[in-house]
Amino acid sequence: MQILDGKITSQAIKDSIKEKVAVLTAAGKRTPHLAAILVGNSGASETYVASKVKTCAEIGFDSTLKRFNDAISEIELLNTIHDLNTDDSIDGILVQLPLPKHIAEDKVIEAIIPDKDVDGFHPVSLGRMVAGLPSFIPATPYGILLMLEHYKIETKGLHAVVIGRSNIVGKPMSILLSRNTYPGNCTVTTCHSATKNLKEICLQADIIVAALGRPEFVKADMVKEGAIVIDVGITRVPDAMKKSGFAIKGDVDFAEVSPKCSYITPVPGGVGLMTIAGLMMNTYNAYMKRNK
Ligand code: NAD
Repeated sequence: MQILDGKITSQAIKDSIKEKVAVLTAAGKRTPHLAAILVGNSGASETYVASKVKTCAEIGFDSTLKRFNDAISEIELLNTIHDLNTDDSIDGILVQLPLPKHIAEDKVIEAIIPDKDVDGFHPVSLGRMVAGLPSFIPATPYGILLMLEHYKIETKGLHAVVIGRSNIVGKPMSILLSRNTYPGNCTVTTCHSATKNLKEICLQADIIVAALGRPEFVKADMVKEGAIVIDVGITRVPDAMKKSGFAIKGDVDFAEVSPKCSYITPVPGGVGLMTIAGLMMNTYNAYMKRNK
């Protein structure tokens, strides 16, 4: 069993972007600039946005964090996005989800111009991805592809089972793994909350991507010997032993599943770090496209 290490892999990607940014700076060019919007004060969202901003600083990107309290109106938020859309110094815009209930997430996502849609959630980005055209790929599935590529894992002809069909993880992951390219070329089964025989389907999988948000849901008796297991789940569960009062759990029961796998991602230290790497790649690509 080999651990697919998100720390090592994301560091390699960050180092390669950092080198490219250093070349831009040496040539007197401006550096890529990511704008992040954070609404409210959810602990998890605060943590995610803080790591994105910190990573920008590490690799030499500029970043702007716009914070609003929960009471912001939808129209105020849309106006902020409009300002960022028309600001030439900004290359990428991300809005940390989820948003408060009174704001329609789809309206907010559609308000970001596709050229700056570094989260890859805009329907134009998703449509282009489905058509196999160059596009921003949602950061988590993109990070998983980068991980498979880094470890040179052959995926052609494998049966991939994706558990979850959200627009940000499960659905794009299924589409990407089925594309006629590397990493991809898999036969893909998408499972979700209405799937009846999940265990039987998982037992046929060469690759399992677990993205359902239920801690330690995938057990050893659902995994075939030698499978590649990618754990996307991040759930905070109360843990009195931790200073923070919670532990982070993935969707896979790592202790019992890992001995059966050929490769497995840990949580934490796996896909979460790769998501940030995917976002940074998208931001760099947005910059390059805008400054061609
Ligand atoms: P979501 O709640 O939008 O979607 C969950 C999906 O799981 C749904 O499609 C649902 O049909 C399916 N599902 C739920 N229960 C199921 C069951 N018993 N059997 C089969 N399918 C079931 O979640 P999401 O936004 O896709 O996130 C999934 C998990 O991944 C969460 O834990 C989230 O925190 C985590 N996540 C991690 C990263 C990262 O960077 N590692 C990024 C995004 C999301």
